[in-house]
Amino acid sequence: LPLPAPGQTPVRVLTIAGTDSGGGAGIQADTRTMAMLGVHACVAIAAVTVQNSLGVSGFHEIPAQVVADQVRVVAADIGIGAAKTGMLASTAIIEAVAGVCREVGLGRDGTIPLVVDPVAASMHGDPLLHAEALAAVRHTLIPLATVVTPNLDEVRLITGIEVRDATTARQAAEALHKLGAQWAIVKGGHLRSAPVSTDVLYNGDKFYEFTAPRIDTRHDHGGGDTLAASIASALAHGYSVPEAVEFAKEWTRRCLEASYPLGSGHGPVSPL
Ligand code: PLP
Repeated sequence: LPLPAPGQTPVRVLTIAGTDSGGGAGIQADTRTMAMLGVHACVAIAAVTVQNSLGVSGFHEIPAQVVADQVRVVAADIGIGAAKTGMLASTAIIEAVAGVCREVGLGRDGTIPLVVDPVAASMHGDPLLHAEALAAVRHTLIPLATVVTPNLDEVRLITGIEVRDATTARQAAEALHKLGAQWAIVKGGHLRSAPVSTDVLYNGDKFYEFTAPRIDTRHDHGGGDTLAASIASALAHGYSVPEAVEFAKEWTRRCLEASYPLGSGHGPVSPL
């Protein structure tokens, strides 16, 4: 992406998400990605996780009104080129975020693109969303999305579809579009039986497929965040959704290739 000229205000992207005390995923992956892409990252913290390379041992939610207020003041003064949501933890936070997004013009019915990463659990199964909040993800959050970016576990929780191949991936993308997302990506990276990682993108009209070689690494923490944050950064630069996804897939591949060990568990997806 083009870097800002010295002294000029860069493109701004807002992440509304949870922290990772281990510095691998969530807000930390988002802000690292944005900084590397020459984008100024604004941050609305929705939850604080207690986490290291071995997993998430707990989380604390920020009051819903405080989450919404962070978004409101950033939009009013700094201005936002695109935003992404990550871990939102609860129904109350999802509803407050949806309300403020509509108020400031974020999302498919507004003028500012919104990437919704419907974070439900870490890739190792630690919960990051209260189970009762899935209904709000389905009926309040996804209908706001310019782009929704679930992984295969999140696809199963949200749509009930078990993605096994290209046909079921397309069915899942259709189901997500039907829930109200303008564009839906079904990320194939977690389908370990496939020799390549194929993401399916759909807008109600046309399917796009993005394929990259599968990179098998144990250091894959924060991969989903990196993808969603780089899509949002490219959208803020004026890329179309298919262009932004193509850019983000390549960026995330490079970050996966350059991931590094940290602690005794899973290191982060990052070239640092
Ligand atoms: N912690 C936070 C705050 C996250 O937002 C996420 C994913 O979105 C994770 C942890 C889990 O990351 P991963 O599934 O890449 O391990």
